[in-house]
Amino acid sequence: MEIRNIGVIGAGAMGSGIAHVCALAGYDVSLVDIERARADAALIIITGNMDRQVRRGLITEDEKADGLARIGVVDSFADLSQCDCVIEAASENEAVKKEIFAKLTETLKAEAIICSNTSSIPITRLAAATDRPEKFMGMHFMNPVPVMKLVELIRGLATDPETFNTIRELTLTLQKIPASAEDFPAFIVNRILLPMINEAVYALYEGVGTVESIDTAMKLGANHPMGPLELADFIGLDICYSVMQVLYDGLADTKYRPCPLLAKYVEAGWLGRKSGKGFYDYAGDEPVPTR
Ligand code: NAD
Repeated sequence: MEIRNIGVIGAGAMGSGIAHVCALAGYDVSLVDIERARADAALIIITGNMDRQVRRGLITEDEKADGLARIGVVDSFADLSQCDCVIEAASENEAVKKEIFAKLTETLKAEAIICSNTSSIPITRLAAATDRPEKFMGMHFMNPVPVMKLVELIRGLATDPETFNTIRELTLTLQKIPASAEDFPAFIVNRILLPMINEAVYALYEGVGTVESIDTAMKLGANHPMGPLELADFIGLDICYSVMQVLYDGLADTKYRPCPLLAKYVEAGWLGRKSGKGFYDYAGDEPVPTR
């Protein structure tokens, strides 16, 4: 099946990035959000991000103009009815996503493929809530989408090979590298990354090191571009905590138990960069460790 038109649901950090890369790759994109203002704001963010790509010589002014002209903000799922593929990137809430799929499939043409960008909800379970589990799969982009090369492709139990191959081809045309993952909690990247971050929080909790020494040790000792606590602040401590909960519940293994100190930071509302404070305080010019 050939994909020409792509619908993107949710115009937050991920949806705007997905719309951005799809439009630059030549697809017509229809972007919808429950709050029209979010979608309008996303267009401004996409424009700014494309401007940066022009300044860095990654795209030309013409490519930027053509890309932006291919993105249309729409107001309802009915406006996506003729899309060949719809990528859902709405809030990480199972009830919200299921409601979106129920509404979307009332009007979406039967041949269209639906993908979810969920980080932690089982693809098979979401697929079962649609009228087309064989045309449903996970397409897990990394943040920030225009920069990060990887897309994890997750087959649900019922996903048919044609659907998988079509989305694999689509991923390649977006200049991304696909990695296929089976539908188990947190897929590949988060399954490996989040326990490492959680272990760094344990090291802090047990007094093995300070925020600074743990991050320095992992940057210089393991050649990681960011320390694990710095990275946790970037991801958001609430997201880190909820992925650990998904691993702990889904795999029923105590090795995934979220560190109590991580829970404490979340309870305090210290969620990392987005709240101004996490393992570092971001109030000044330079981040300052909070422990
Ligand atoms: P976000 O909160 O920035 O954006 C979510 C958007 O969805 C909001 O604009 C919200 O208004 C909209 N929305 C909520 N309900 C809706 C509905 N019923 N219909 C249409 N729009 C609706 O979230 P995000 O960080 O962009 O994450 C989106 C998805 O991508 C989640 O499933 C998340 O797990 C996944 N994801 C996030 C990251 C990340 O690092 N942020 C990485 C990979 C995957």
